[in-house]
Amino acid sequence: MNNVTRKKVAFHTLGCKLNFAETSTISRSFPEELFERVPAGTKADIYVINTCTVTEAADRKCRQAIRKFINKSPEAIIAVVGCYPQIRPGEVSAIHGVDLVLGTNEKFDVAGYLSTLVKKQNAEIHSCTLSPSDTFIPSYSAGDRTRSFLKIQDGCDYGCAYCTVPLARGGNRNPAINSLTTDAVSLAGRGVKEIVITGVNIGSFGKTTGQSFAELLQELVKVQGIERYRISSIEPNLLTDEILSIIAGNKKILPHFHIPLQSGNNKILQLMRRRYTRELFTNRVTAIKEILPGAGIGADVIAGFPGESESDFEETFNFLGNTPLSYLHVFPYSERPGTVAASMPGKVAGEEKERRCKKLISLSASKNQEFFRQNIGLTEEVLFEKLRSGGMITGFTGNYIRAEYPWQAKLVGQIRKVMMNGISPTGKMRVELID
Ligand code: SF4
Repeated sequence: MNNVTRKKVAFHTLGCKLNFAETSTISRSFPEELFERVPAGTKADIYVINTCTVTEAADRKCRQAIRKFINKSPEAIIAVVGCYPQIRPGEVSAIHGVDLVLGTNEKFDVAGYLSTLVKKQNAEIHSCTLSPSDTFIPSYSAGDRTRSFLKIQDGCDYGCAYCTVPLARGGNRNPAINSLTTDAVSLAGRGVKEIVITGVNIGSFGKTTGQSFAELLQELVKVQGIERYRISSIEPNLLTDEILSIIAGNKKILPHFHIPLQSGNNKILQLMRRRYTRELFTNRVTAIKEILPGAGIGADVIAGFPGESESDFEETFNFLGNTPLSYLHVFPYSERPGTVAASMPGKVAGEEKERRCKKLISLSASKNQEFFRQNIGLTEEVLFEKLRSGGMITGFTGNYIRAEYPWQAKLVGQIRKVMMNGISPTGKMRVELID
């Protein structure tokens, strides 16, 4: 056994937190006696690229990454897996140098496929048609971050007009709560302090098991050793008063809400087939600020959806300007084949989309600065991460402010009480330790 030369395998992830949790799980399925994990920046015998296809730009980034690894190591085995090949296997397998193409469920067996694969002229393609009640494959990230991404749910039944995620990941499904608390216990055993609860449509957790997201939160907070839970995102119509009071009633669940709004104009929300109006969004933000005044609230917004006129956009811009948000994630509308919106009239020109995005991005910057200013002089807790930049150690507060402090190795992975003193030239919050 000990004279087996272990193959060097490297992993590269594109896209969402869910993909990072899944890549970490996939990497743990490679037997250490046969494979040696190496950083993607180094030479390897095998590269596994876990992809994203949420926008046109995401597809482009995937193709660039694939070609980068092929050029870096022409003899290496290139396995391209996940959402992009699930929807466009032909496009991926047509890239010369790709050896293995796996869909969103098959990707978890990549180690098995690779143990028999040799470099060939044409790529081997394995992707299946997804069915709503398809399997839920548990995943969490471990070992490569102070925080861990825990997958609690997969797929989505919503069918928003612009979205390709259900086509890539199938319908809404989830495991039982006790299997997720078991994952949390093993993460606590690995020294993880903060779990980022992730999925596709987190608030819709429970369909498969008849349980609810509120119940899940109440069970997760009982796990010893995990001190913080961060909800990565939740639909506005699924952020119930019950969930809010659980969050307000338990210090372990962080006062940070990322809520996809997409538009501040009701006509556009309807065209997008979103399940709320802007009034409901305002109602949820007001409810958060009443019960957790210091909470950090971020929102996703799409600019240039088909049919969005200049005045519709101005309405969204003013709506966001008047809503107490601490940051925005701004996306230019990206037409995705197979979605309802792809055949909608009223397409917005590229440079106009860009102009609208620029305006929203500068609005986000000023709202974020304002939120930082409101927090100066207040105390918070920061989980310091192992990232060292410019002689500083950084980490996030509970309400999602990136803080910085002069580097001390012993602070890595520690949750410390801090006083927020001011905004540093790097745009982070300068803090002092007060515990
Ligand atoms: S809620 Fe809408 S945007 Fe989000 S994953 Fe589901 S279909 Fe896509």
